[in-house]
Amino acid sequence: MHDINALKELLKEPKEVMITTHHKPDADALGSSLGLAGYLKKKGHRVTVITPSDYPSFLNWMEGNDDVIVYSEKNDGLVQRIVNESQVIFCLDFNNLSRINEMGEYIRQAPGTKVLVDHHLQPEDFADLDFANTSAAATAEIVYDLIKAMGDADLIDTGIGECLYAGIMTDTGSFRHPSTSKNVHLIIADLLHIGVKTSDIHRLIYDSSSELRLRFLGYALKDKLVVLREYNTAYISITADELKAYDSKTGDTEGLVNYALSIDGIVFAALIIDRTNAVKMSFRSVGDFSANEFAREHFNGGGHKNAAGGMSLDTLENTVAKFESLLPQYKDKLQHATIR
Ligand code: 5GP
Ligand code: MN
Repeated sequence: MHDINALKELLKEPKEVMITTHHKPDADALGSSLGLAGYLKKKGHRVTVITPSDYPSFLNWMEGNDDVIVYSEKNDGLVQRIVNESQVIFCLDFNNLSRINEMGEYIRQAPGTKVLVDHHLQPEDFADLDFANTSAAATAEIVYDLIKAMGDADLIDTGIGECLYAGIMTDTGSFRHPSTSKNVHLIIADLLHIGVKTSDIHRLIYDSSSELRLRFLGYALKDKLVVLREYNTAYISITADELKAYDSKTGDTEGLVNYALSIDGIVFAALIIDRTNAVKMSFRSVGDFSANEFAREHFNGGGHKNAAGGMSLDTLENTVAKFESLLPQYKDKLQHATIR
């Protein structure tokens, strides 16, 4: 239920607020969180942003980044205290408490009012107030609309605007995915109007690779890309040793799966990475083939129709074999996917 009046009532007086987002935050996760934090601080609330893990360094420029608490075993006690003392807990860009690791159970048990702001499919029912919208292009879009609906559009300054812009730009694939609606473009027009330097943000996020990251990309595309024409599918698998050899940092593999999807005729792509504690998978699709369903049914994951993720506790080799063995049952769908 999208009850803006309940949110207004909840935030009428200054409160202790915490904001969290999903494991390995991307630009939408962190940007929507820091954009909302910037706004709520302006309204007089005490706001703490806690992420369940670290995130790519190409997001460090965001306003408020220096105050983010990154959960680790070492600050577990502090995080539990903040969760329990927060009167309002915003959950941004995820819809299932398993996506925030240890913090999930702390938040489930916490006495504060939980507010979900998200755009993923099939939400878990844990929030008291729900601003989920699966047709939104980004959580940052929902945050922008929420601030506007609160009657506070004039509080969106360039610092907040840059964070929200980053979320919308990345989740729309730089304004090319079908989720790029008229509302998205109208928001961007507003952000340009207040002075957000959109091309600077694009450069900060996409043109800040280390030399090794680029060489890793070259290696992955040349030596690790597997194209299965029969299934209109392409995938890349990466071992833990390969990550080490290229000194891979958080965020270095982001976007890699899109190259597999960019091959003519390919409608389904996967990136399968041995993260040592688990094998992590990214899925992308075009048209009506649902990456979300595939991730949910076989790899304990989920996401959006055309962009989803999952994991496996099996070895990389077995996970890749399982992935390949699943394709025949989707052959018909993969061969006849409607792409426009
Ligand atoms: P990415 O492949 O970029 O990590 O994630 C693609 C989309 O799927 C994102 O919206 C992300 O939040 C979601 N996602 C990624 N991994 C998982 C997962 O393990 N479980 C669920 N439910 N969603 C995931
Ligand atoms: Mn998002």
